[in-house]
Amino acid sequence: MFNLIALALITLSWFMLVRNITLGFLKRLEDDNSRLLDNFKALEKLQKSLYLENEQLNKTFEDTLALYELTKDICSSLEEEKVFSIFNSSLKKYIGIGDCRYIKDDADLIKYKDYMILPLNIEEGQAAGYLAVDRILEADKEKFGILTQQFLIGLRRALLYQKVQGLTITDTLTQVYCRRYFLERFAEELKRSKKNKLHLSFLMIDIDNFKKYNDRYGHLVGDVILRQVSKIITDNIRQIDFIGRYGGEELSIVLAETGKEQANFAGQRIRQAIEAAAIRAYDEELRVTVSIGVSTFPVNTQNMKDLIEMADQALYLAKETGKNRVCFSPS
Ligand code: GH3
Ligand code: MG
Ligand code: MG
Repeated sequence: MFNLIALALITLSWFMLVRNITLGFLKRLEDDNSRLLDNFKALEKLQKSLYLENEQLNKTFEDTLALYELTKDICSSLEEEKVFSIFNSSLKKYIGIGDCRYIKDDADLIKYKDYMILPLNIEEGQAAGYLAVDRILEADKEKFGILTQQFLIGLRRALLYQKVQGLTITDTLTQVYCRRYFLERFAEELKRSKKNKLHLSFLMIDIDNFKKYNDRYGHLVGDVILRQVSKIITDNIRQIDFIGRYGGEELSIVLAETGKEQANFAGQRIRQAIEAAAIRAYDEELRVTVSIGVSTFPVNTQNMKDLIEMADQALYLAKETGKNRVCFSPS
């Protein structure tokens, strides 16, 4: 009996021991499992935040790339208005902005009193104008600042180019006066002629069938022809006369102190010199002719604009009546 009780006690204590061990083991497993779950959740969270961060970085990269492309576009033109128009369309495409205007005159600012006004400082203390913006998203203000800086650079380049153009007096291709400077000199010479009661003749010269030369030999050859014709004319006028490039293949001359008869003589001399010249352009030896229209002060008109128009009409007549000739304004 005693043995039986002892056996039962031993079995019970074994059972309790095994039970406790098993329960302890299960508890540890449960703890491990919960820790693993926590770790998994933390990793999942980390992965999500990395994904978001990556997305943000991609977006920033794309934005930077787009900004770079836009800034390149803004500086691609040397025309003030075009620089603004590219800048403005970039703003509309890229950021949340309302109306944006480029204002050059201070007087117009009053019209934009409800807008945000930004002076565009080109040089120290010198504003080239203003930007007027009616509204802009807070989040886009930084991008707006970057694009505006690029606009300012583009604007500076365009204004500088305008300034240099204003200082240039010769045409780069032909080396004769550019149209603007030629017209300035023409106005001065006309004034002098009026004051001193002198004659003055104006010649408009146009190369005959020039388009054919361009089409047949290419524009580079066409350019050489233009340069050579300008040189021949320069060699055939006096020191007091001057020549300018009026348009594409049109040259103009002011013959100072020259009446109609002498102008005819000079015009014919120029026409013949060009007709007789063998023009070397690369591998080609070419011959060209010109048509010339002439108007004379004061017999035709007193006014510079009319002198130009009359010479133009005379040139038209020369073209209509067979080219390679000198024609005079009839009136
Ligand atoms: P027309 O006898 O009636 O004057 O005929 P045209 O072919 O000379 O006249 P048109 O006005 O049809 O063509 C003038 C051409 O001059 C067209 C234009 O491409 C060319 N041109 C204008 N400026 C330049 C230039 O700087 N270089 C060259 N190579 N060609 C020019
Ligand atoms: Mg022409
Ligand atoms: Mg022509």
